[in-house]
Amino acid sequence: MAAPVRPIVICGPSGSGKSTLLKRLFRDFPNRFGFSVSHTTRAPRPGEVDGREYHFVTRDALLAAVDRGEFVESATYANNTYGTSFAAVNDVLRRGVNVILDIDMQGVRLLSLANTQPLYLFIAPPSLEELERRLRLRATETADTLKARLDAAAQEMAWSQTPGAVDRVILNRDVEEAYADFLDALGLTEELKKAT
Ligand code: 5GP
Repeated sequence: MAAPVRPIVICGPSGSGKSTLLKRLFRDFPNRFGFSVSHTTRAPRPGEVDGREYHFVTRDALLAAVDRGEFVESATYANNTYGTSFAAVNDVLRRGVNVILDIDMQGVRLLSLANTQPLYLFIAPPSLEELERRLRLRATETADTLKARLDAAAQEMAWSQTPGAVDRVILNRDVEEAYADFLDALGLTEELKKAT
Protein backbone atom coordinates (compact mmCIF):
# COMPACT_ATOMS: atom_id res chain seq x y z
CA MET A 1 0.00 0.00 0.00
CA ALA A 2 1.31 3.47 -0.83
CA ALA A 3 2.00 5.99 1.88
CA PRO A 4 -1.01 8.02 2.94
CA VAL A 5 -1.37 11.37 1.27
CA ARG A 6 -3.00 12.88 4.33
CA PRO A 7 -0.81 14.94 6.63
CA ILE A 8 0.49 12.82 9.50
CA VAL A 9 0.35 14.24 12.99
CA ILE A 10 2.51 12.67 15.67
CA CYS A 11 1.62 13.53 19.21
CA GLY A 12 2.63 12.22 22.62
CA PRO A 13 4.43 13.28 25.75
CA SER A 14 7.92 14.62 25.59
CA GLY A 15 10.12 11.55 26.15
CA SER A 16 7.66 9.06 24.64
CA GLY A 17 10.08 8.36 21.78
CA LYS A 18 8.48 10.31 18.94
CA SER A 19 11.78 11.63 17.60
CA THR A 20 13.36 8.18 17.60
CA LEU A 21 10.48 6.73 15.55
CA LEU A 22 10.57 9.67 13.16
CA LYS A 23 14.33 9.39 12.64
CA ARG A 24 13.92 5.74 11.67
CA LEU A 25 11.05 6.56 9.31
CA PHE A 26 13.10 9.25 7.54
CA ARG A 27 16.03 6.82 7.29
CA ASP A 28 13.93 3.95 5.88
CA PHE A 29 11.83 6.12 3.57
CA PRO A 30 14.05 8.94 2.36
CA ASN A 31 12.41 11.49 0.05
CA ARG A 32 8.97 10.28 1.03
CA PHE A 33 8.19 12.40 4.07
CA GLY A 34 9.03 15.92 5.13
CA PHE A 35 9.10 17.26 8.66
CA SER A 36 7.22 20.46 9.39
CA VAL A 37 9.80 22.44 11.37
CA SER A 38 8.00 24.19 14.21
CA HIS A 39 9.00 27.38 15.98
CA THR A 40 9.75 27.28 19.69
CA THR A 41 10.83 29.66 22.43
CA ARG A 42 12.70 26.94 24.33
CA ALA A 43 16.50 26.76 24.18
CA PRO A 44 18.09 24.24 21.80
CA ARG A 45 19.21 20.95 23.39
CA PRO A 46 22.69 19.65 22.66
CA GLY A 47 22.77 18.40 19.06
CA GLU A 48 19.70 20.34 17.93
CA VAL A 49 20.21 22.58 14.92
CA ASP A 50 18.27 25.77 14.24
CA GLY A 51 16.01 25.19 11.23
CA ARG A 52 16.25 21.38 11.49
CA GLU A 53 14.56 20.29 14.75
CA TYR A 54 13.02 23.72 15.34
CA HIS A 55 13.28 27.36 14.46
CA PHE A 56 14.48 28.72 17.78
CA VAL A 57 13.02 32.18 18.35
CA THR A 58 12.20 34.64 21.11
CA ARG A 59 8.75 34.78 22.60
CA ASP A 60 8.22 38.29 21.25
CA ALA A 61 9.13 37.24 17.71
CA LEU A 62 6.88 34.18 17.87
CA LEU A 63 3.89 36.05 19.28
CA ALA A 64 4.29 38.83 16.70
CA ALA A 65 4.32 36.29 13.86
CA VAL A 66 1.23 34.59 15.33
CA ASP A 67 -0.48 38.00 15.49
CA ARG A 68 0.35 38.54 11.82
CA GLY A 69 -1.58 35.34 11.05
CA GLU A 70 1.49 33.38 9.94
CA PHE A 71 0.74 30.31 12.09
CA VAL A 72 -1.57 27.35 11.55
CA GLU A 73 -1.59 26.77 15.30
CA SER A 74 0.41 27.58 18.40
CA ALA A 75 0.35 26.48 22.03
CA THR A 76 2.14 26.87 25.33
CA TYR A 77 3.72 23.66 26.60
CA ALA A 78 5.72 23.38 29.81
CA ASN A 79 6.33 27.15 30.02
CA ASN A 80 7.41 27.57 26.40
CA THR A 81 5.50 28.47 23.25
CA TYR A 82 5.50 26.28 20.15
CA GLY A 83 3.82 26.76 16.81
CA THR A 84 3.45 25.52 13.25
CA SER A 85 3.81 28.20 10.60
CA PHE A 86 2.04 28.01 7.25
CA ALA A 87 5.50 28.40 5.70
CA ALA A 88 6.79 25.28 7.50
CA VAL A 89 3.97 23.15 6.08
CA ASN A 90 4.19 24.72 2.62
CA ASP A 91 7.96 24.12 2.44
CA VAL A 92 7.27 20.38 2.75
CA LEU A 93 4.27 20.32 0.41
CA ARG A 94 6.25 22.16 -2.27
CA ARG A 95 8.70 19.23 -2.26
CA GLY A 96 5.78 16.93 -3.15
CA VAL A 97 6.18 14.71 -0.09
CA ASN A 98 3.90 13.79 2.83
CA VAL A 99 4.05 16.30 5.64
CA ILE A 100 4.64 15.11 9.18
CA LEU A 101 3.87 17.33 12.14
CA ASP A 102 5.03 16.70 15.71
CA ILE A 103 2.71 18.74 17.90
CA ASP A 104 1.11 18.55 21.33
CA MET A 105 -2.47 17.79 22.35
CA GLN A 106 -3.55 21.45 22.15
CA GLY A 107 -2.26 21.69 18.61
CA VAL A 108 -4.13 18.51 17.69
CA ARG A 109 -7.35 19.97 19.03
CA LEU A 110 -6.87 23.16 17.03
CA LEU A 111 -6.15 21.23 13.84
CA SER A 112 -9.20 19.02 14.42
CA LEU A 113 -11.35 22.13 14.53
CA ALA A 114 -9.81 23.26 11.23
CA ASN A 115 -11.12 20.03 9.67
CA THR A 116 -7.80 19.21 8.00
CA GLN A 117 -8.26 15.40 8.29
CA PRO A 118 -4.72 14.31 9.09
CA LEU A 119 -3.84 10.87 10.42
CA TYR A 120 -3.36 11.35 14.16
CA LEU A 121 -0.94 9.01 15.92
CA PHE A 122 -0.26 9.21 19.63
CA ILE A 123 3.01 7.73 20.88
CA ALA A 124 2.54 6.59 24.48
CA PRO A 125 5.19 5.61 27.04
CA PRO A 126 4.41 2.42 29.01
CA SER A 127 3.70 4.48 32.14
CA LEU A 128 4.26 7.89 33.65
CA GLU A 129 6.92 6.39 35.94
CA GLU A 130 8.85 5.09 32.92
CA LEU A 131 8.47 8.46 31.21
CA GLU A 132 9.92 10.20 34.26
CA ARG A 133 12.83 7.76 34.28
CA ARG A 134 13.53 8.46 30.57
CA LEU A 135 13.31 12.22 31.00
CA ARG A 136 15.67 12.10 33.99
CA LEU A 137 18.12 9.98 31.97
CA ARG A 138 17.97 12.47 29.10
CA ALA A 139 19.07 15.12 31.60
CA THR A 140 17.79 18.06 29.55
CA GLU A 141 15.35 19.39 32.15
CA THR A 142 15.51 21.42 35.34
CA ALA A 143 13.36 20.34 38.30
CA ASP A 144 10.72 22.89 37.22
CA THR A 145 10.55 21.95 33.56
CA LEU A 146 10.61 18.23 34.43
CA LYS A 147 7.55 18.73 36.62
CA ALA A 148 5.80 20.80 33.95
CA ARG A 149 6.48 18.09 31.35
CA LEU A 150 5.25 15.30 33.62
CA ASP A 151 2.06 17.27 34.37
CA ALA A 152 1.51 17.81 30.64
CA ALA A 153 2.21 14.11 30.01
CA ALA A 154 -0.42 13.01 32.54
CA GLN A 155 -3.01 15.19 30.81
CA GLU A 156 -2.01 13.98 27.34
CA MET A 157 -2.13 10.33 28.37
CA ALA A 158 -5.64 10.73 29.77
CA TRP A 159 -6.77 12.66 26.69
CA SER A 160 -5.33 10.03 24.30
CA GLN A 161 -7.70 7.46 25.85
CA THR A 162 -10.83 9.51 25.17
CA PRO A 163 -12.83 8.21 22.21
CA GLY A 164 -12.02 9.96 18.94
CA ALA A 165 -9.02 11.89 20.32
CA VAL A 166 -6.57 10.22 17.91
CA ASP A 167 -6.70 7.56 15.20
CA ARG A 168 -4.27 5.21 16.93
CA VAL A 169 -2.24 4.98 20.12
CA ILE A 170 1.19 3.42 19.62
CA LEU A 171 2.61 2.02 22.82
CA ASN A 172 6.35 2.55 23.00
CA ARG A 173 7.54 -0.08 25.48
CA ASP A 174 10.03 -1.58 23.08
CA VAL A 175 11.27 0.54 20.17
CA GLU A 176 11.24 -2.32 17.63
CA GLU A 177 7.62 -3.17 18.41
CA ALA A 178 6.62 0.48 18.44
CA TYR A 179 8.28 1.09 15.07
CA ALA A 180 6.52 -1.95 13.57
CA ASP A 181 3.20 -0.63 14.85
CA PHE A 182 4.04 2.84 13.56
CA LEU A 183 4.76 1.50 10.05
CA ASP A 184 1.55 -0.52 10.17
CA ALA A 185 -0.43 2.61 11.02
CA LEU A 186 1.16 4.32 8.01
CA GLY A 187 0.45 1.34 5.73
CA LEU A 188 4.18 0.86 5.10
CA THR A 189 4.94 -2.57 6.56
CA GLU A 190 4.92 -4.44 3.25
CA GLU A 191 6.89 -1.76 1.51
CA LEU A 192 9.72 -1.90 4.01
CA LYS A 193 9.82 -5.72 3.73
CA LYS A 194 10.13 -5.46 -0.07
CA ALA A 195 12.87 -2.86 0.16
CA THR A 196 15.04 -4.88 2.58
P1 5GP B 1 10.04 19.39 23.07
O1 5GP B 1 10.36 20.65 23.82
O2 5GP B 1 10.22 18.17 23.95
O3 5GP B 1 10.76 19.31 21.76
O4 5GP B 1 8.49 19.45 22.70
C1 5GP B 1 7.54 19.62 23.72
C2 5GP B 1 6.16 19.40 23.16
O5 5GP B 1 5.85 20.41 22.21
C3 5GP B 1 5.98 18.07 22.46
O6 5GP B 1 4.77 17.48 22.90
C4 5GP B 1 5.87 18.45 20.99
O7 5GP B 1 5.04 17.56 20.27
C5 5GP B 1 5.22 19.81 21.11
N1 5GP B 1 5.40 20.64 19.92
C6 5GP B 1 6.47 20.74 19.11
N2 5GP B 1 6.23 21.59 18.10
C7 5GP B 1 4.96 22.01 18.25
C8 5GP B 1 4.11 22.88 17.50
O8 5GP B 1 4.47 23.45 16.47
N3 5GP B 1 2.85 23.07 17.97
C9 5GP B 1 2.39 22.47 19.10
N4 5GP B 1 1.14 22.69 19.46
N5 5GP B 1 3.17 21.64 19.82
C10 5GP B 1 4.43 21.41 19.42
